[in-house]
Amino acid sequence: MSGRFYTETAVKRMIIPKEIATYCPKCKSHQPHTVSLYKAGKRRVMAKGERHHKREKSGYGGQKFALQRKFAKTTKKQTLKLKCKSCGYTLQKKGIRLKKLTLE
Ligand SMILES: [Zn+2]
Repeated sequence: MSGRFYTETAVKRMIIPKEIATYCPKCKSHQPHTVSLYKAGKRRVMAKGERHHKREKSGYGGQKFALQRKFAKTTKKQTLKLKCKSCGYTLQKKGIRLKKLTLE
């Protein structure tokens, strides 16, 4: 994507097209890509770390690490998922801080 959509410095809102042509590392050429937003996956309850943390939290003494309660930032960096239309390869593109990101 090479910063093509990120030219403005103080962007608060950004409209990103649902389909863009960008470089696909698998096809080694520019290809049309479908754009979607990355969302973090569901936590696996039975994962070792989750079970360990649950065990540590039980009984006396509580939380084992500081929980973030006050956030200095009001925005989040959105990650874009770009899926190549010809080979299906998905690459993720780190975004910049935005108040609002719309896919159109
Ligand atoms: Zn491709």
